[in-house]
Amino acid sequence: MTSPPCGGARHEAEYHQKGLIMGVKNFTTTHSIYNMSNKMQIKSSKEGFVSFQQNVPLSPFTTLKIGGPADLFYEARSVEEFVAAIVKGRGMKAPVTILGGGSNILIADGGIRGLVVKNNTGAITIRGMKGTYQGGEAKGKVFVEADSGVVFNKLVRFTVEEGLGGLEAHLGLPGTVGGAIFMNSKWTKPEAYVGDAVYQVTILTPRNDIKVVDRSYFRFAYDASIIQKSGDIALRVVFALTPQNKEDLWKVANQSVAYRRESQPQGVKSPGCTFRNISKADAVAVATPGHTTSAGFLVDHAGLKGAAVGDAQISPIHANFIINNGRASARDVVELIERARAKVKKQFGVELEEEIVRLGEF
Ligand SMILES: Cc1cc2nc3c(=O)[nH]c(=O)nc-3n(C[C@H](O)[C@H](O)[C@H](O)COP(=O)(O)OP(=O)(O)OC[C@H]3O[C@@H](n4cnc5c(N)ncnc54)[C@H](O)[C@@H]3O)c2cc1C
Repeated sequence: MTSPPCGGARHEAEYHQKGLIMGVKNFTTTHSIYNMSNKMQIKSSKEGFVSFQQNVPLSPFTTLKIGGPADLFYEARSVEEFVAAIVKGRGMKAPVTILGGGSNILIADGGIRGLVVKNNTGAITIRGMKGTYQGGEAKGKVFVEADSGVVFNKLVRFTVEEGLGGLEAHLGLPGTVGGAIFMNSKWTKPEAYVGDAVYQVTILTPRNDIKVVDRSYFRFAYDASIIQKSGDIALRVVFALTPQNKEDLWKVANQSVAYRRESQPQGVKSPGCTFRNISKADAVAVATPGHTTSAGFLVDHAGLKGAAVGDAQISPIHANFIINNGRASARDVVELIERARAKVKKQFGVELEEEIVRLGEF
């Protein structure tokens, strides 16, 4: 099979058309489903009790199994611990990096300076049932709140089992809720974005304020969310979901998993898709078949399927996946990325952008 697109390529204009970007309002929400006491609970920080490990290897915390150590490291098991560790690290003037499931990152061979906080928070709660909240577009929805460290697959299984529609197409998405909010992670068949179902998010700002913001704050678009620039950290996310037939939801969920098995390499060390899909305009200019926006299609047709640098290889199954066949280094992966980018540019005139996030010094 040729390499299908990694998720859709809905660009900002299409979000506007679909009414999914509504302009940034005063982002401290006026109709929060939280009460103040909830916010205060998070603020009761355990900063004094948090102690950091030193010089901790990070490769085991990534799906690519590459990367050097963190100077300082902490695994947070509750939102209170998560906040406390970040605030403490910032107080020490250490740069702070968040790790979710480590499924979309390339960590430098030299590791990451400062503090790395691994988010293992894991609570899921049904916050409000149909009819109890009467606010505008959310009328008739069921609100499910998940800590940002919840494994996304666990959340999908939970909501589908509860007969709540909105996340089912994402079954099989690796990583955490926080990582999916950061990336606005997506699926192709049917086209779906995690941001579509977001209602409210509790964030920790770079100034250590805790705020509840609504979906419009994030300016979700293809592979984009405002927190990639703002430096906010997602703590808890409320999804607005629709009651639906459970069997129908499982059908969609299982179709997603089946398509993943068919189109993506299985059981390999990889950070998923390397490059963002190209824009529709570029696809038209390049005249890809059916105007596919698939970056994998371009890498494939540049003759790079199976190309390798050391143990880093472009998957022979899906050309947008780079895999680690054993002892690949971050340097090998970067060399392979640059080789693919240069060849695609030369052959098609299109500059591929990376989807994976590089962390540390390259
Ligand atoms: C086999 C495979 C299949 C994949 N399939 C898909 C797919 O279908 N669709 C898709 O979109 N992606 C896919 N991916 C990529 C990846 O799984 C997603 O991007 C995922 O949502 C990343 O979540 P994570 O928790 O692993 O984030 P990480 O990789 O841990 O982090 C990614 C970025 O998010 C930041 N971050 C993490 N948590 C927070 C937080 N709480 N607040 C603020 N920033 C945070 C990190 O600092 C980092 O910059 C796939 C990856 C693999 C390995």
